Amino acid sequence: MDHNNNASNQNISNNKIEYKHNVPSEKGFVFKFVKKDNNFIHTFSEGSFLKKLGLSSSSFVGKPLSDFFSGDQLNAAFYCYETAWNGNIISFEGSTNGFSYLTTLTPITINSQVVEVIGTVFEITEFRKNALKIQELEKLSLIGELAAGVAHEIRNPLTSITGFAQLIEELSNDETINIYLEVMLTELNRINTIVNEFMFISKPKENMDTRDTDIKVLISHVIKFMSPQATLRGVRLSESISSNSTLIAHCDPNQIIQVLMNLVQNAIEATTDPAQEIVISLKNTNKNSLLIEVTDKGSGISKERLKRLFEPFYTTKEKGTGLGLMMCRRIIENHNGTIKINSQLGEGTTVRITLPKSFNHQKQD
Ligand code: ADP
Ligand code: MG
Repeated sequence: MDHNNNASNQNISNNKIEYKHNVPSEKGFVFKFVKKDNNFIHTFSEGSFLKKLGLSSSSFVGKPLSDFFSGDQLNAAFYCYETAWNGNIISFEGSTNGFSYLTTLTPITINSQVVEVIGTVFEITEFRKNALKIQELEKLSLIGELAAGVAHEIRNPLTSITGFAQLIEELSNDETINIYLEVMLTELNRINTIVNEFMFISKPKENMDTRDTDIKVLISHVIKFMSPQATLRGVRLSESISSNSTLIAHCDPNQIIQVLMNLVQNAIEATTDPAQEIVISLKNTNKNSLLIEVTDKGSGISKERLKRLFEPFYTTKEKGTGLGLMMCRRIIENHNGTIKINSQLGEGTTVRITLPKSFNHQKQD
């Protein structure tokens, strides 16, 4: 627990030298703190990463921990500061304003007494993001393999079960049996949806059937397909095309239709006020890409939920599969496009998709 004087003084200078020579100040900062009246007070800071976190030297130095953290984060930080003040070196991760960082606290002892603690903070935002991405990719590829296997095995027997159930329904005059069959067919339909979504998720890029496609025409198809369902819910579905010229993307039209149908389906399910309409819009963003937006004025999505939408099996619906958005992202990324969701709880949601324009048509605007 105790640190030898010389060794810890060595540490101070080592820390400082390492920091100054190896870490650009925008990627980290050093600070010191002491304990006074049962409170930890910062006494020094250097390095411009502090600014990135939304703090300045004057808002940091002389201030207690409770100025920067609250709730669980304050308790955790307090525990780490206390541990360091008791003579132990301790590291912990934190995140503020979208930046992740690793903090190491090193106590400085004089005559077996901790007199101050030096903290070094390194930014690890990129590292954390990459680690998350790798984790996600591993999860996705495993799910993809499983999905492909399961979907292929289930598809054929499912088709024959559905076929025979429909046949029995046609042949039978027994009302009770027909009610059971109706339930069976609804459930079979649901399994069929899941299997189809699995098939899409596992569909490798090489199987894409791509061609130059007029996106305006695709959107009209989607409106036509989905309007009956919207009307059933009393919701209006419309398009808004803000480009005079034809916007052509080199894509698999069926897959893009699948994506838009899924997004419209989600929008319909989120809209409870029939006065609100759902709009699919097409915009010409720049010479290389076009933008498709699906906007609803439905329930909206909270910040916490927003982060989880593309996870497989994440659903808030009793009968949802939680595979729709994951499938959409897979398809759009296979097309070298992007998909982003903006949402405000209680106000509505906009899903933005960018697709690269067909190379032959890039000069058009
Ligand atoms: P599912 O529709 O089967 O639940 P999705 O992957 O399509 O699966 O969507 C996942 C979740 O994202 C939904 O359960 C819902 O909570 C949320 N969501 C998606 N689109 C919207 C939207 N337009 N408005 C509100 N919530 C949405
Ligand atoms: Mg869905």
